[in-house]
Amino acid sequence: MLREPVRILGAGIAGLTAAICLARQGVKVKVIEKKKSIGSKFGFHINALRLYEESDFLQELEQLGVQLSPSGKITRMIKKSPSVLRCIEGDLYLVFERGDGRESIEMQLFHTAVKEGVEFEFGRFATADEADIIATGAPMDRFNMLGVGYIFELDGSNLRPEEVILVYDHHIAPAGYLCFLPSRDRFMLLSVSFTLLQPRALFARLDAALGGDEFFKETVGRARLLQKVTGMGYYAEDPIAQAMQDGKLYIGEAAGFQDARRGFGIRYAVISGILAAESVLRNRDFRILLADAFGREFDRLNEKRKWINASCCNEYFDRWMMKLPVKSSINEYLCWKNMETFVQANQKSF
Ligand SMILES: Cc1cc2nc3c(=O)[nH]c(=O)nc-3n(C[C@H](O)[C@H](O)[C@H](O)COP(=O)(O)OP(=O)(O)OC[C@H]3O[C@@H](n4cnc5c(N)ncnc54)[C@H](O)[C@@H]3O)c2cc1C
Repeated sequence: MLREPVRILGAGIAGLTAAICLARQGVKVKVIEKKKSIGSKFGFHINALRLYEESDFLQELEQLGVQLSPSGKITRMIKKSPSVLRCIEGDLYLVFERGDGRESIEMQLFHTAVKEGVEFEFGRFATADEADIIATGAPMDRFNMLGVGYIFELDGSNLRPEEVILVYDHHIAPAGYLCFLPSRDRFMLLSVSFTLLQPRALFARLDAALGGDEFFKETVGRARLLQKVTGMGYYAEDPIAQAMQDGKLYIGEAAGFQDARRGFGIRYAVISGILAAESVLRNRDFRILLADAFGREFDRLNEKRKWINASCCNEYFDRWMMKLPVKSSINEYLCWKNMETFVQANQKSF
């Protein structure tokens, strides 16, 4: 029998999504959040949601009555490796802000949760035994992806408001990437690494690029620096195996539901939150629901991640980028990517 209120630890994306799903079905829910108010544990930063391949969860949120308002849309993507530059155009990403701002994702979810009658307790660090659903985000003693960077004013920079720049340079962002991502009047320059996990060391490489690399200097231009960003992420090799512990449901990055290839975790936070609510409401086995929804997705992401960590280098990035058309539409790019994946699979190489 359902014991009410259902207690959820963590008012991040996964916890709030689960809370909204349960409350909409008339279940009493209490969310305990260690911070004093809503806002990402990493403060203000900017996120992108891919409109191609994985925007399915936005429709699921809509069905829950949550229509997230983006702060921008990206229609042009510059991909750059050390010696090659390519451009892709089309409907590419929606941009969302994170943190305690009025339009942040968590604030938009929070307002819906309050409307649905969810009860909140802020400013209390609780332990897993006080809750039914654990949504506490990346465990700080076990993170395996690191993002460091800066927020600048857009004004004075040479970045267009509808443009994202992705830079692949193994020396600056080992086994990862850098992005210049705009939102309204600001932009974030973030360096993401999967093998160099010390913030100071990663900042040092980014700072060296900002001081010496012509492309970085040109893009940032005279933009004013506003703040630093440091964030950690956690992907598990088999998050589904970690999703139930001692009768409790673990969702979002607390269980390692993350995109091990790129660090795009929002989709996983939302879907695992929805499925946890379904498991509670219909008394269904959470792990079976997850396995049905994700299939072998995590195995594939982990295989890619292992390969990238072990083998990627700037020569590979250059070779890979050289194969891309200089300019393509998103549909041309996706056709090209599918063809490449097919050829590689048949050559039994990456
Ligand atoms: C810099 C950065 C950039 C990113 N960019 C993207 C992107 O572009 N696209 C994308 O899809 N994903 C991105 N991600 C990943 C995405 O943000 C996460 O995967 C997602 O937020 C995970 O949601 P969550 O609910 O599991 O955890 P969180 O959103 O981290 O929420 C966890 C909540 O639990 C609270 N909490 C923790 N411990 C306790 C406790 N003991 N008691 C009570 N409360 C507790 C925290 O304060 C927090 O509010 C990015 C992450 C970072 C750090």
